[in-house]
Amino acid sequence: MPTLLSETTWQKSLAQAIRDPQELISRLNLPEELLEPARKSAHLFPVMVPISYLNRIEPANLNDPLLKQILPIDLENAFVPGFEADAVGDLNVRATPGMLQKYHGRALLMVSGACAIHCRYCFRRHYPYGDEPRTLQEWEPVWQTLQADSTIQEIILSGGDPLLLTDLRFHDLCERIAAIPHVKRLRIHSRLPVVLPDRIHAGLLEMLQRLSEQGTMPWMVIHVNHPNEIAADVEHAIRQLLQAGIPVLNQSVLLKGINDTTETLIALSEKLVNLGVLPYYLHQLDRVTGTAHFEVPEAQGRKLIEELRTRLPGYAVPQYVREIPGEPHKTSLLG
Ligand code: SF4
Repeated sequence: MPTLLSETTWQKSLAQAIRDPQELISRLNLPEELLEPARKSAHLFPVMVPISYLNRIEPANLNDPLLKQILPIDLENAFVPGFEADAVGDLNVRATPGMLQKYHGRALLMVSGACAIHCRYCFRRHYPYGDEPRTLQEWEPVWQTLQADSTIQEIILSGGDPLLLTDLRFHDLCERIAAIPHVKRLRIHSRLPVVLPDRIHAGLLEMLQRLSEQGTMPWMVIHVNHPNEIAADVEHAIRQLLQAGIPVLNQSVLLKGINDTTETLIALSEKLVNLGVLPYYLHQLDRVTGTAHFEVPEAQGRKLIEELRTRLPGYAVPQYVREIPGEPHKTSLLG
C-alpha cells in the first residue's frame, strides 16, 4: 500500500478552489458588470479555479492569459455553425462504457468526470460523464475487454482528470493495469501537476515507480498553454515527477488572445524544455459548442509553427495537430 501521508494536503487545496463567479470576480478585482454573464455561462459549465492558479493571475487585468482560460463570458452562449457538443466524436468510439478506443494499440479510460479547473475551451465540456461506470463492479467489463485484447499495449487515463481519484482508488487502478501482461505503458493525461501541484506527492510517486518496476512504464502528459502557468510550485511538481523517472510531455491548445503569438509559444517551449518537459502537441481548437471565440485560424497556426522552427531546436517545437473524428491518428496541420 502507498503512503497516504500527503493525501489530505491536495484534497484541502481542491476543497478551497473557487466555485462561485461572484468570488472569482471580487478576488481578482474585476468589473462588476462581468458578473451577470459569468453567472449565465457558469450555469452551463461551472466555475472551478484552484487558489494556486488564481494566484498566478494579475488582478484587474482583463487581458491576463490565465484569466481568459477560466472566466465564463457571454460569448460561450453564442450559436456558431460548425461547433457542436461532441466535436471529436468521443461517443462514436465507446468500446464499452468507460472506455474509448480511437487508435490502434491504445485504449482510453474515462476514470474521472471531475477536474480541478474548468477550462472554458474544454473539448469535453459537454461530455455525459454521468453515463460512465462508477462502482468497481461497473468497471469489470472494461477490465475484461482489456484482458481479452492483446493488441492493447497502452492505456491512457483521462476524463476529467484521472489524478482526482483518491490515492487508494488510483492504487487499485495501477494494480489492475499492472496485472494485464500485454499492457506496457500507462499514459496519464492530467492538468493537476499544473493547476493543483501538491497532488504530486510521495505516495503518488511511489505508486508510479512501483508500476514501472512491474513492467508498465508510466508517462505523464500535462497541459500548459501559457508560460505564466508554470509557477514555482508547478516547477517543483514537475521536477519530482522527472526525478522519479517518469517522462513528462506537454500538450497545449492554440487559443486566441492567450498563446497565439510567436513570443508566447517560444517562451512556453523554452520554459518546458529547460525543466525537462517535451512540448508534444499544439492542438488546433476542437470545435466544441461555446468555444468559438478561442479559435485561431489554421493558417495563422501554421505560420506560428514555421516561426518557432526558425527559433527553437526541433525537439522544442510541438507537433501542430487537429483531431478529426474517424481518422486513425491525429492529423498534422503542417501538410
Ligand atoms: S482540465 Fe482538461 S478535461 Fe478538465 S476542463 Fe480543462 S481541458 Fe477540460
